[in-house]
Formats: sequence, structure tokens, C-alpha cells
Amino acid sequence: MANSIRTPRQGTTPGSRRIAQAVDDEEWQKFRLSLKGISTRDKLNNLCEYWNQEAHNDKADPDTVDCDVCIRVDNYIKALCRGGQLHPGESLRSALIVDWNLIIKS
Ligand SMILES: [Zn+2]
Repeated sequence: MANSIRTPRQGTTPGSRRIAQAVDDEEWQKFRLSLKGISTRDKLNNLCEYWNQEAHNDKADPDTVDCDVCIRVDNYIKALCRGGQLHPGESLRSALIVDWNLIIKS
């Protein structure tokens, strides 16, 4: 186990296994916890900051979501959609297109 905060789930498909692997990271789990209880706008601002400050080399191509950092942020944004804070269908890609100014539902 690569983090002490959340027991990683195995995932049932190649995609979900890839996500499970990407989020099994101590720093990410600490960051995730730091987002609890703050507004959706602040969550997006902090996700933007995280995505920008972490080292990864696919920043220029929002169609490529295959590094751990991008997968973590994309997965979090999709969870906000499922939770009703963002409109269905938002993603890292759509966040980048609108410079992180996604429409907040609640
Ligand atoms: Zn990336």
C-alpha cells in the first residue's frame, strides 16, 4: 500500500485499475483530504494549482490523460460531477478548455 490514508481498491477494468494505481499516493491523498469542506470553486482552484505545480510532461495536450497527475485530477473532477457539484460530462479536458472556470452547480 502506497498511502496510509485510503485503502486502494483494485478496480475491475483496465481503466479503473489504472485510476486505482494513480490515486494510491500519499501526497495526493493528503491533498484530497485538504479539499474536504471547502467550496467547489476553491476545490477547482486548488486542483488547478496541484495540476500546474506537479511535474508531468503531458500538460500541453489535454487529450492525453495518461500520467498519474492528470488521472488523479480528472478522476476528482468526475467525482464532483457524480456528486452534483458540476454538470455531468466535465473532465480535466473541459476544465483546461475553459481555464478552470467550470460552471458550479452547488
Ligand atoms: Zn499529466
